[in-house]
Amino acid sequence: MDERTDMQRILVVEDEASLARALQLELEHEGYQVQVAGNGYEAVARASEGKWDLILLDVMLPGLDGFEVCRQVRKRSAVPIVILTAREALGDKITGLDAGADDYVAKPFAIQELLARIRARLRRSGAAHQDGDRLVVGDLVVCRDTHTVSRGGRPIALTRREFDLLAYLAENAGLVLTRDAILNRVWGFDYYGETNIVEVYIRYLRVKVDEPFPVKLLQTVRGVGYTLRES
Ligand code: CA
Repeated sequence: MDERTDMQRILVVEDEASLARALQLELEHEGYQVQVAGNGYEAVARASEGKWDLILLDVMLPGLDGFEVCRQVRKRSAVPIVILTAREALGDKITGLDAGADDYVAKPFAIQELLARIRARLRRSGAAHQDGDRLVVGDLVVCRDTHTVSRGGRPIALTRREFDLLAYLAENAGLVLTRDAILNRVWGFDYYGETNIVEVYIRYLRVKVDEPFPVKLLQTVRGVGYTLRES
């Protein structure tokens, strides 16, 4: 296998050998460096071994299923995860997003659609990885690799959802994000819980990220949404 470091690395987790092989060939043809894991345990081990740019993860796996793999990987890594499943159920998509997946593609899929989704996901995470995975707004530093946040060097503990929300705001620092955009990106397109969930989490973030500090970064733009900026 080519070990050039400028190639993006994708871990394919799929127990069906012929499909795994087909995916590997297609992805290699597109210029990615690819490895395959054939079961859930192997997937968790491989995921923590290497530095991956993306994980393509089947749900129905021997050993741990894809959702459990996703949860385990998420404890240690913010790597983009795209879930593949034969099951069309909406419940699966929600379970996947709750487990920390970034996107979902239902089988059977057209390979071109899958490749497009992968490119989109890599572009998005590439944009967020500028400056060595660190997003900086004023004295606020959001580190996506280690899932840590600090202000003026002081660490701030956040829940995973708070972190995702803050990271999304920091990726788009200076831009106003609407409540719907935030809901779609941080909670997923099929979220149908409390309608004021975004406001509630913005409040949580303010308490942790802004209240202890003289300069307030998280700003409400009335009637539009929220933005993270220095002034
Ligand atoms: Ca399978």
